[in-house]
Amino acid sequence: MSRSSSSYSIGVDLGGTQIKAGLVLSTGEVVDSLSKPSQANDGASIVSGNIASVIHQLIRTNSHLLLEDLVGIGIGTPGLIIPDRGIVHFSPNFDGWHDIPLVDLVRQKLDAQLTHLPIHIENDGNAMAYGELRQGAGVGMKDVICLTLGTGVGGGIILDGQIFHGSRYVGAELGHTTIFGDGRLCGCGNYGCLEAYVGRDQIVERTRAKIIKSASCSPILEAQMDSLTPKIIAEAAAKGDELAIEIFTETARYIGIALTSFAHILNPQMAIIGGGVSSAGEKLLFEPIRAEVRKRAMDTNAESLQIVSAKLGNQAGLVGAAMLAQQNQPS
Ligand SMILES: [Zn+2]
Repeated sequence: MSRSSSSYSIGVDLGGTQIKAGLVLSTGEVVDSLSKPSQANDGASIVSGNIASVIHQLIRTNSHLLLEDLVGIGIGTPGLIIPDRGIVHFSPNFDGWHDIPLVDLVRQKLDAQLTHLPIHIENDGNAMAYGELRQGAGVGMKDVICLTLGTGVGGGIILDGQIFHGSRYVGAELGHTTIFGDGRLCGCGNYGCLEAYVGRDQIVERTRAKIIKSASCSPILEAQMDSLTPKIIAEAAAKGDELAIEIFTETARYIGIALTSFAHILNPQMAIIGGGVSSAGEKLLFEPIRAEVRKRAMDTNAESLQIVSAKLGNQAGLVGAAMLAQQNQPS
C-alpha cells in the first residue's frame, strides 16, 4: 500500500496533568492541536476515555481531512512502556498503573469507524527523540541522542534511525548516568546521577546552597530565594550575576561530562538538548557544554558530535508519536 501524500496521523502526548494531541500530516506539519486534563488519578478507564475524546474532537474540528487518509494513532507517555504489547508496565505519573493495556482501552473508547486503526504506544522520551529526528533538529541524521532537561532529565537514543529500547525496554535512562561516583543521592536510589545535579529542583537546590554558603552576595537571587526557578537563575546570569553564572557554568559542565560518556559509547552524530532548562540558551549553556566535551572526549568522538538545541519545543512528543504511527502502519 503506497502512502497517500495527504495521509495523516494523530499524535498524543499523555502526561500526568495534560493530554496534548495533534493532527500531523505525513510531511510532519501539525495541522491542529489541543489539550485536555488527563485526570491521572481517576484511573485508566477515565484517562483512556479522555484520550479518545481528544481524538474525536480533533477529527470533528478538521472535517476537511478525509477519514480514509488517517493512517494511525501514536501515544507517547512516561514510564516503562512495552510497545509490542500496547502496555504501560509502570508509570511514575499514574498512581497504581501496572500492566495497563492502554492501547486496548483507548480502542474500546473510540468511535466504531476508528477502531480498525493501528495504535502505537511509546515512552515519551523516545517519542520526543523520534519527533526531533523526523521533524526537528535531527532531520537527516541516523544516530542521535536526545536529552530533555525538565523536572527530571529524560532522554531517548536513536540508532540507525530507530528507537533503541534495550532488552527490557528500560534503556536510554540518560538522566541516570553517573557523573560522580560518590555524589548526591538521586531519586532513583543511585548516587551522583546527572539528574541529581541538573534536574529543575536540583539546580534550584544547588543555587540556594551556594547563596547560603557564599560570601559574595547575589541581590537578584537572594530577593527571590523562595521562588527560584532555573529561568530566574538564567535571567540573573544574563544580567551578569556571578553566582547565577557559576550555577550555569557548573550545570553545563555536568551535562558535558555525561555527553562525553555518550560520545564515547555511541559515537552519535548529534546530541539534541531540549526541555525548559535548555532555554538558558547558547552562551550560558550550549557553548560551555561543547567546550567541556571538547576538553574531555577523544578527538574523533568530540569532532563528530554536534550539540544543538531541540526545535519542536513541547510538541516534540506528539509529533514523534504521530510519526511513529505513520512508520508503523501496516503495508
Ligand atoms: Zn538517578
